[in-house]
Amino acid sequence: MAPPRDRKLAIMGYRSVGKSSITIQFVDNQFVESYDPTIENTFTRQFKLNNQEYRLHIVDTAGQDEYSLFPDSYSLDIHGYILVYSVTSAKSFEVVKVIHDKLLDMVGRIKIPIVLVGNKTDLHLERKVSTEEGQKLAQTWNAIFLETSAKHNLDVQAIFKGVIMEIERQDGNLPEE
Ligand code: GDP
Ligand code: MG
Repeated sequence: MAPPRDRKLAIMGYRSVGKSSITIQFVDNQFVESYDPTIENTFTRQFKLNNQEYRLHIVDTAGQDEYSLFPDSYSLDIHGYILVYSVTSAKSFEVVKVIHDKLLDMVGRIKIPIVLVGNKTDLHLERKVSTEEGQKLAQTWNAIFLETSAKHNLDVQAIFKGVIMEIERQDGNLPEE
């Protein structure tokens, strides 16, 4: 058996979009109604994909807005990024675009493994951002796109699977689709 691969991920986005809820749902299999929004924490979970074990270190950031400056720690040893907005918040969708542009500037490469996530799909009546808008944005970034509900644990695993596959693909370890 190959040794586990350590991969560090950062989960970013505007406040209250569900970054911590997604992380805790993935790491702990539970939905927490309220989690301190100011804490930045790193969570670890072992995850198996295509017969390879991964030790995922997930930096659940405290959140950004359009004015945030990114510390170097967001670029130095991060293998992949999960950029989250809430489908109920047009503002969070605007902010995720700004974060993406800053990220590209900071990392200084065009190719970065990124998964774009529209969370809170269970709140149908409050939806402000359509699936098509999310898809389009991800296409322009060359990123993977997913809609999720951290509350109902819908497609949360797929986020992490997607980001690992993208990391491996960009490393040349998986064939292009
Ligand atoms: P963060 O600031 O991005 O880390 O957001 P949190 O994970 O703390 O979530 C902010 C609020 O949105 C909390 O009240 C969560 O319970 C709620 N929330 C997070 N994800 C979902 C979801 O998928 N559906 C619903 N209905 N609420 C969610
Ligand atoms: Mg949080």
